[in-house]
Amino acid sequence: MNKVASYLQGHIAGEVFDGDAIRSTFSRDGSILAIKPSLVVYPRTTNDVRKVARFSWQLAEKGHVLSVTARGGGTDLTGAAIGKGIILSFPAHLNRILELDTKQRLVRVQPGVNFKSLQETLHTHGLFLPPFPASYEYSTIGGAIANNSGGVKSYKYGSMRSWVERLEVVLANGEIIQTGPVSKKVLTRKLGEPTLEGELYRAAAGLATENKAVFEAYLDQLRVPSDRVGYALDSIHRKNGTVDLTPLFVGSQGTLGIITEAIIKVAKYSPTSSLTVASFGSIREALEAADDIGAMKPSVLELVDGDVYEFATKHFNITFPPELSVGGVAPAALLFIECDDPSSKLKAKFNKQLHRILEDYSRQTITAKNFDELEKLWALRYATSSVLRYKSSGHSFVPVIEDAAVPRDLLGAFIEDAKALCKKHHVEALVWAHVGPSNVHILPLVDMSKVAHKQTIFKLMDEYYRMVVKIGGSIASEHGDGRLRAPFTKLQVGETLTKAYADLRKAVDPHGTMNPGVKTGSTIKDVVDNLASDYSLDRFSDVLPRM
Ligand SMILES: Cc1cc2nc3c(=O)[nH]c(=O)nc-3n(C[C@H](O)[C@H](O)[C@H](O)COP(=O)(O)OP(=O)(O)OC[C@H]3O[C@@H](n4cnc5c(N)ncnc54)[C@H](O)[C@@H]3O)c2cc1C
Repeated sequence: MNKVASYLQGHIAGEVFDGDAIRSTFSRDGSILAIKPSLVVYPRTTNDVRKVARFSWQLAEKGHVLSVTARGGGTDLTGAAIGKGIILSFPAHLNRILELDTKQRLVRVQPGVNFKSLQETLHTHGLFLPPFPASYEYSTIGGAIANNSGGVKSYKYGSMRSWVERLEVVLANGEIIQTGPVSKKVLTRKLGEPTLEGELYRAAAGLATENKAVFEAYLDQLRVPSDRVGYALDSIHRKNGTVDLTPLFVGSQGTLGIITEAIIKVAKYSPTSSLTVASFGSIREALEAADDIGAMKPSVLELVDGDVYEFATKHFNITFPPELSVGGVAPAALLFIECDDPSSKLKAKFNKQLHRILEDYSRQTITAKNFDELEKLWALRYATSSVLRYKSSGHSFVPVIEDAAVPRDLLGAFIEDAKALCKKHHVEALVWAHVGPSNVHILPLVDMSKVAHKQTIFKLMDEYYRMVVKIGGSIASEHGDGRLRAPFTKLQVGETLTKAYADLRKAVDPHGTMNPGVKTGSTIKDVVDNLASDYSLDRFSDVLPRM
């Protein structure tokens, strides 16, 4: 063990690793980037996290930056869960549900809790946490908070930011803070404190106030409901006069501090939701139907391009439900529509109206009649993720332009333009979308070992992001800006907000030890330097959704 590793090991209760194999394992997340860390630490307590942050801060004060990257399941698609300093990995020990208050519907958790385990525990109490990502089987609650994750239900229930109440956070210098609403009186006291927490309140409150008009103008021109670029400075001032830093940490991707505990609201769970899948002759037709269905306020409204299933059946030995095929092949598009109202009367009414609408557009439909059928239909929806496992002759589907949101009225035309863009660059691509928030997942097929294909990726990102911004969309609407999109975020938010985000960062992380290169402060060259020469989510293959 090297000197730094054994020093740290002597000071914490958890484990420190510096072996090559473990560092290689932690050099990848769900993105196309690769960075080998110097050390991997499994903290056992908040005190361990505090000591690691403090150690990194003190080294940086002496001129040596050994950064800290918090990590949950490592499924991040933007390169935000990798870094060259210390990886602080939570699932090994800090993985407990500490308290569940079923009456107040609140749960207190450690960050390394597996999202699916938490969900299963909540289900046994008739509760659930609605913004679960498609990766919830193998990701953590800490990662979901830090990424402000959402999923198929976010149309109705919003993203994690709407559900997180309070956080315990370790700041860059090792200070431990609690977030939550603070009154004007407490704020005045905090603003005067000579601590890093005081600095955080001063910077956040100051930048939010100074840039209020810029934020308003930005949000005004944004024509989509979800945007994960930058920091939620615009959300810290509450209508009741309190200030709450919680929303700032939600979506901060480990760049402002390390979350060591969270109190989260949960909702009543209705296990008997009603799910319908409908097939269509074209994406346009499916989207027209979705316009009418949207007015009925479904809890899920998802679109999957038929090409995804054609591909999945060909390469993953998947059988597409014959009831949904058109002439023996997968249809051009599928819509997944869910009503999760607990009342069976309301569900029946919803379905009656839904089928009336679908009669005008859809070729075939299936509505799940029992739990088994429901599970099968959900598996069909989540099979989309299985394409990320694909690898053949060096080619794989890569997440580089996978996370835009575009105005709902332009979604159909945008999908056609995006496909045309990929075609122009001679790459095949698969598409699916959360129609509600109009979030498009498009995955181009490339060979990461080829220089020409790597160049294509950057051309695609540049042209695609410009297309998105031009129509009032967001280049990062679910998975975050992270390391991959950081060089492009100025395109999205402009000079002033880019500076505000960098200033916030500088105030709370003056030595640049908190997940540097993520969200702000990196260039296209940094991204190029960290490109991996291959891509596949094979390492998650035992848990990746399959049909
Ligand atoms: C197949 C697939 C499907 C996906 N589907 C979705 C989806 O539907 N919706 C969605 O939103 N995302 C999705 N994602 C992206 C990702 O899985 C989610 O954002 C997930 O919530 C990340 O959780 P994680 O535990 O893997 O976090 P990690 O990947 O480990 O980390 C994510 C970020 O959080 C930070 N972080 C982790 N723990 C902490 C902590 N304790 N304190 C501070 N920062 C921390 C990391 O530094 C990093 O910046 C998908 C990814 C894959 C591979």
